[in-house]
Amino acid sequence: MKTYKIAIIGGGPAGIIAAIAASQNLNNINNNNHHHHHEDIILIEKNNSLGKKLLLTGNGRCNIANSKSIREQLNLLKHKNFLKHSFYSFSNEDLIAIFKDKGLDFKEEKDGRYFPITDDANSILAILKDYLNNLNIKILLDSPVKSISKEGIKEKEEKKGDRDKEKEKEKNKEKDLFLIDTDSISLKAEKVIIATGGNSYPQTGSTGDGYDIAKSFDHEITPIKPGLISLSVKNSYFKHLSGISLENLNISFKEHSIKGDLLFTHFGLSGPGILDISNFIVESDYKSDYNSNNLSEKIVISLDLIPNSTKEELSKRIIADSQSNGKTMVKNYLKHYLKNRFIDYFLNIAQISGNKTLSNLSKKDRNKIIAKLKDFQVEIANTAPRETAMITCGGISTKKINSKTMESKLIQNLYFAGELLEPYGPTGGYNLQIAFSTGFLAGKSSTESFN
Ligand SMILES: Cc1cc2nc3c(=O)[nH]c(=O)nc-3n(C[C@H](O)[C@H](O)[C@H](O)COP(=O)(O)OP(=O)(O)OC[C@H]3O[C@@H](n4cnc5c(N)ncnc54)[C@H](O)[C@@H]3O)c2cc1C
Repeated sequence: MKTYKIAIIGGGPAGIIAAIAASQNLNNINNNNHHHHHEDIILIEKNNSLGKKLLLTGNGRCNIANSKSIREQLNLLKHKNFLKHSFYSFSNEDLIAIFKDKGLDFKEEKDGRYFPITDDANSILAILKDYLNNLNIKILLDSPVKSISKEGIKEKEEKKGDRDKEKEKEKNKEKDLFLIDTDSISLKAEKVIIATGGNSYPQTGSTGDGYDIAKSFDHEITPIKPGLISLSVKNSYFKHLSGISLENLNISFKEHSIKGDLLFTHFGLSGPGILDISNFIVESDYKSDYNSNNLSEKIVISLDLIPNSTKEELSKRIIADSQSNGKTMVKNYLKHYLKNRFIDYFLNIAQISGNKTLSNLSKKDRNKIIAKLKDFQVEIANTAPRETAMITCGGISTKKINSKTMESKLIQNLYFAGELLEPYGPTGGYNLQIAFSTGFLAGKSSTESFN
């Protein structure tokens, strides 16, 4: 049976960058010591290719990171304190730089979203694969890891003096190895990094296997919920609105408010703004054991369709327009504020006849319109099926992981990285940044003891 220094489980962004960082760091160490090791590192992937989910990101264009400052990014993320060290160790600029070094440029889109200039996630994956090849990292494809065990754990747990522990460690080095069983072969490793992803989009290979492996080492898993997920609505009329997009609105749920775009779909609502607000909805109310409905509370979101004007400003403007353009019909006038196809529905909800002219609009009607423009409420029926979630919220609890190294606090030489950990964020490149930053840190710190 072959023994490796470091085995990395999962060939997504987190696992790939962990392998690269580990290998680069190990090469530095080896060069300094004038040693050369071959096949020190192995990357084990269940699928017949690496990075299946990565290729789907950003509609195939890969929104890899965000230009915001690290501090601003962290403020948008769940478990930001845990992520802090990894984000400073391998930042958005560090991430972009490894691709720029290989000739791939980036462009910045809405809200700081970075995309490769090629608009193609393949160009990201190709460069990552080049790094893996150039560093001679062994890649094992078609190899789902079934279980990982570590002999010698029992001895570790016994109370011994530090010095005795060290001696014991030397004597039992063989015992300290991890045994990794895939469905075909078994191998051993001194260190293991688990980067198997969450459990959304399972067709990409991310089926939550890492949770079971982590549990087998007594790690706690916090409730697993689908995040960045479309929402269905109670109102059946919405299917007639399918295809309409509303841009730059404020979408609120309870105390949470975000700015973003919304898209009406055949079953309800989607678009980045809805995906972002879904994280808060799912966080507050989601029944994991699937019933006809995963949501138990009555969930209502509020759309501020004109976020840049206050009610008072709108009122003044409509009054002024009524005086100068009194003959304009309300349904035509609203084109200044709303998408054409949305106006009929809007007037229906506001219970106002669109054929009224502005000069015939009573104060009460005017206020009704303004109220709906600023607070258009939509009752949510359910989340879309969890398989369609872009991310998994929750995961391996950060409490038992050292945020400075990504090493388990329970099991020495065991590391975790990427989406199978608890942290997550909104759309905008943050989830890939989490995968790359935690993956890089895990890879790098796993090699430190070989120094
Ligand atoms: C449609 C879609 C679009 C997205 N767009 C964006 C975007 O534009 N920007 C952004 O920041 N984020 C985006 N995300 C989220 C992003 O893709 C994930 O956060 C990221 O891929 C997580 O990386 P990871 O390496 O932790 O896990 P994954 O990418 O899920 O990789 C895990 C890997 O482990 C493998 N694996 C699992 N179990 C085993 C096992 N037992 N043995 C061996 N291998 C195993 C899997 O096959 C997989 O290759 C998107 C997600 C989806 C689904």
